[in-house]
Amino acid sequence: MNYTRSSALFTQAEQVIPGGVNSPVRAFKAVGGTPIFIKEAKGAYLIDEDHNQYIDYINSWGPMILGHAFKPVVDAVVEKTKKGTSFGTPTEIETQIAELAISMVPHIDMIRFVNSGTEACMSAVRLARGFTGKDKIVKFAGCYHGHSDSFLIQAGSGAVTFGSPNSPGVTQGTAKDTLLARYNSIEHVEQIIASNKNEIACIIIEPVAGNMGCIPPLKGFLNQLRDLCDANNILLIFDEVMTGFRLAKGGAQELYNIKADIVCFGKVIGGGLPVGAFAANKDIMSYLAPLGPVYQAGTLSGNPLAMAAGLAMLQELNKDTKIYKRLEEKTEFLHNGIAKVLNEMNIMHTINRVGSMISVHFSEDDVVDFESATKGNNETFKKFFHGLLNEGVYIAPSAFETWFVSDALTYQDLDHTIKAVKKVASTL
Ligand code: PMP
Repeated sequence: MNYTRSSALFTQAEQVIPGGVNSPVRAFKAVGGTPIFIKEAKGAYLIDEDHNQYIDYINSWGPMILGHAFKPVVDAVVEKTKKGTSFGTPTEIETQIAELAISMVPHIDMIRFVNSGTEACMSAVRLARGFTGKDKIVKFAGCYHGHSDSFLIQAGSGAVTFGSPNSPGVTQGTAKDTLLARYNSIEHVEQIIASNKNEIACIIIEPVAGNMGCIPPLKGFLNQLRDLCDANNILLIFDEVMTGFRLAKGGAQELYNIKADIVCFGKVIGGGLPVGAFAANKDIMSYLAPLGPVYQAGTLSGNPLAMAAGLAMLQELNKDTKIYKRLEEKTEFLHNGIAKVLNEMNIMHTINRVGSMISVHFSEDDVVDFESATKGNNETFKKFFHGLLNEGVYIAPSAFETWFVSDALTYQDLDHTIKAVKKVASTL
């Protein structure tokens, strides 16, 4: 592949944007090489500035569950744009998307829209603290909840990729209120609760972790967390920024039949525009300004274009009764195909998958937490990534990320991907 124009654009970008990117994982630091500049995308494919085409498994890191430039979403945004892009007043469409989201997701009565997953999680934690009157939070090593200060404590995603889990700029004062637990270890959570009696406001978790590769919750783990929270007056926050509207209409709450006290959304809920949201029952949400004392706000929150994109996306997911089954089948097909190839070639690996989230770890052991996720062979991953890219298959440029399967992918695309894996595997 020829990357001449991408390289030139990157050099130019580096002069004026730190690292040439507006979000670190885009920089290819973990895998080496020069990031590819995308010119446009349609359905399952990305087209770069040198006219190379790729089958896309990043899907904008999750939002594009129905593929790129999905017509109902594009049309809705174009129509809205003609009527003005922001008013800073209430608009009808905010209530429409709120009603629809609440009808799709269990256990929520009210929802507040923000502009990113980071804002959603940050606000959810503030609300939990305000509601319970307690300061400490529990997060899991390797889970990523955005770049708000209290989450940058052994965070996943780019924060691992760059080896700076505890970012400078996060004060000791903030860090001391974030307690770190091992994912999938209920014993560890019990210990933490026992030594911080009556001090913990909430436990925040990715119910299926997607920021250390994909790591499913072990059987019973989320139930046990729920019970611990109930017994200790702690709120359970599901960060469903990745899993919301992706694993099921009602996200992980529906998939695992577990009630969370506060749920955070991002990605799919915005249809590819900058949207996040957090939701809970009326009791909890009534603590939020202007009803209650916990402050939270946003100039562009509930922006009409963003709401139009999100509403069109949710309407589509709500009416297509087969979508989640179809996505799961496609992902299973991919899983089986890749596993067969890697097994035939005797390449050590573990594949984790839930619904349309999947990741390949170059490690023999089960990958169940942050520690086991870091045991994967990164050199093999780098070769795998670049090999696939060269074959026109674009996976996330880090072993600590999940691949997202979109409904735009055809079985022909999946076959092409498996053939590409076969070709690349012979070079690993
Ligand atoms: N939570 C989770 C689970 C995420 O995966 C992400 C982003 N990858 C975030 C929060 C932060 O969302 P955003 O990048 O929109 O701020």
